[in-house]
Amino acid sequence: MTYFREEIETMSRDELDALVDESIRYTMKFAENNSPFYRKWFQKNQINPADIRSHEDLRELPIISGKTMRDRQPPETNEFEFKCIDWDQVYTIHETSGTSGTPKSFFLTWDDWNRYAEKYARSFVSQNFGRGDRVVVCASYGMNVGANTMTLAAQKIGMTIIPEGKCTFPVRIIRNYQPTGIVGSIFKLLRLARRMEKEGLDPQESSIKRLIAGGESFADESRAYLEKVWGVPVYNTYGSTEGTMCGECHKKVGLHVPEDLVHLDVYNPQLEDFVDEGECGRIVLTTLLPPGGKAGTLLLNYDTDDTTVVISKDKCPCGRTHLRIMNPQREAETVWVLGSPFNRVDVERGVFQEDNMHYLTGEYEAFLYGDEQDVTLRVSMECLDNNNCDREIIKENFLKSFLEYKPQLSEVHQDGNLNILFNFTGPGGLEFYKIRGRPKRLVDRR
Ligand SMILES: [Zn+2]
Repeated sequence: MTYFREEIETMSRDELDALVDESIRYTMKFAENNSPFYRKWFQKNQINPADIRSHEDLRELPIISGKTMRDRQPPETNEFEFKCIDWDQVYTIHETSGTSGTPKSFFLTWDDWNRYAEKYARSFVSQNFGRGDRVVVCASYGMNVGANTMTLAAQKIGMTIIPEGKCTFPVRIIRNYQPTGIVGSIFKLLRLARRMEKEGLDPQESSIKRLIAGGESFADESRAYLEKVWGVPVYNTYGSTEGTMCGECHKKVGLHVPEDLVHLDVYNPQLEDFVDEGECGRIVLTTLLPPGGKAGTLLLNYDTDDTTVVISKDKCPCGRTHLRIMNPQREAETVWVLGSPFNRVDVERGVFQEDNMHYLTGEYEAFLYGDEQDVTLRVSMECLDNNNCDREIIKENFLKSFLEYKPQLSEVHQDGNLNILFNFTGPGGLEFYKIRGRPKRLVDRR
């Protein structure tokens, strides 16, 4: 199988745009009739939903954020104002944990499930998965929709799922069931490879043919290292409870956005405007419903707090016409130092420089200290063997990569206002190991 839904995935740009515009018109009507929030929002902003007829028109509407959602659900309001359906139509209820304390509530219908699963099914097929493949899902089953909707996607393409839910499963799973793929995060897949080696199973000699990395943003360098360790291609998947499921095809030239099912645009909050192809900004998404469709929670012009760049709307070498975006990064993982931004992924890139990986496990954490004038970035890296770890080479490679495309940071570093310190530990020596939950790898302590 080359495509999951060939006609839609390879549609010409004109036809695709027309299909999207048709869905936008229906979705606006659905929002007006069913969403308590959007009904009021149209009135308040003097928008006639019937005037919103194309993707260009969407760019004229205000943006809403996660805060807007939290302000329109209990205890702030009596009702869940983003909920578009009666309670007896709700199939599942989800909460996004979020860092802000109050989770956002999402209501999904069975239709929503099928549309989410279709996005993953297209993505799996674009990564050469199909009938006969057996995939271990390390992503957690629970309030996050990812693992569950991937499992439903597998049913649609005749694939077997081994729903482990975490990456600490026994190596026997690999020996006994000969899975062909694993879905997990870069670091979980690296740790799994090390554990397999210890138990006498060389990852490169195992049944695994490809890996899917998702759940968090990563540097190209860390993916390259993971590919080397396993000896297989690693594909990227980006998904969220809001319904943005984008997948990298086997050509690895950006993540395809399933344009007929979700509308994605890129917005620059500083400019207060949408940006063009090739420019970085926040991902703003709009749920798209096919005419006659229903959604439990509907979002129009929703700011996801993730950033990306639209790479191209041209046809991909894989034959798909749906637009491609760069690996999204989390705005929450971006820090500003003396007027310049950098992201956790920039630190990761410095760590995973090819020559560093003779000495490092890849595990790292970084802390920022200081004030407005003087900032210290302290980077801790874990050595495979603390007695045989060429610190000078690692420092040099890190600095070269970290400062390469950041002229302003490079300048404040040379002037001595940005101090970059390095710390090396043996296995298990990083601070995050002492804290439960997902490691926080860039911590701003200013
Ligand atoms: Zn492609």
